[in-house]
Amino acid sequence: MSKILLVEDEKNILELVRFNLEREGFEVISTPDGACGLEVAREELPDLIILDVMLPGMNGLEVCRELQQDSSTRFIPVIILSARAEELDRVLGLEMGADDYIVKPFSPRELVARVRARLRRSVRVENQGGEKLTDKILEIGRLVIDEEKHAVYINGVKKDLTQKEFELLCYLARRRGKVFTREQLLEEVWGYDNPVDSRTIDVHIRHIRQKLEPETGAGELIETVRGVGYRFKEDS
Ligand code: CA
Repeated sequence: MSKILLVEDEKNILELVRFNLEREGFEVISTPDGACGLEVAREELPDLIILDVMLPGMNGLEVCRELQQDSSTRFIPVIILSARAEELDRVLGLEMGADDYIVKPFSPRELVARVRARLRRSVRVENQGGEKLTDKILEIGRLVIDEEKHAVYINGVKKDLTQKEFELLCYLARRRGKVFTREQLLEEVWGYDNPVDSRTIDVHIRHIRQKLEPETGAGELIETVRGVGYRFKEDS
């Protein structure tokens, strides 16, 4: 049974979501408070977190960022709930490491479907990782990616990437030489059926570059292919 942490201060929404998830067989733990949600996430290590943006004290985006910075919680999928359909919130949420985003008011059925899709996806990623032991460490010149430990090294020095930066780097590195559009990457790495905001990709690529390229030189790992998208250099 998957355990879901729900952080939401509006009591009626909390009860509605809880009711629908429990009816589908999920175990639900909840808290109305951001800081408390962070604490519960670290203690309980739920399979998925549903996080409201507007919370008393610490808001959902801050909680999301904190979760990303903690190695024990950074792999837990996060779905952001927001009352505002504002682009900024959504982009910010995805930049902070959230995996999906739902705007209020939403139908409980849609939420349950998103939760299921997200959980299926993380199981699939685990399974893929578990099949080929020898494939878990990828060495490309000075860059080493250890997929099991979710670690990236350049010249033996460990680099801190967020979960999504890591997944994006792995995806490109495993398919080096091939060019991907932003939409393809959003679909493959974020799992969107209907890619909406390709700027998210640019932001993540920029962060990966800022973290890795001081060691390798600019443009040495990931190339921008003008008018198309990005590719991991074949000979890097
Ligand atoms: Ca709220």
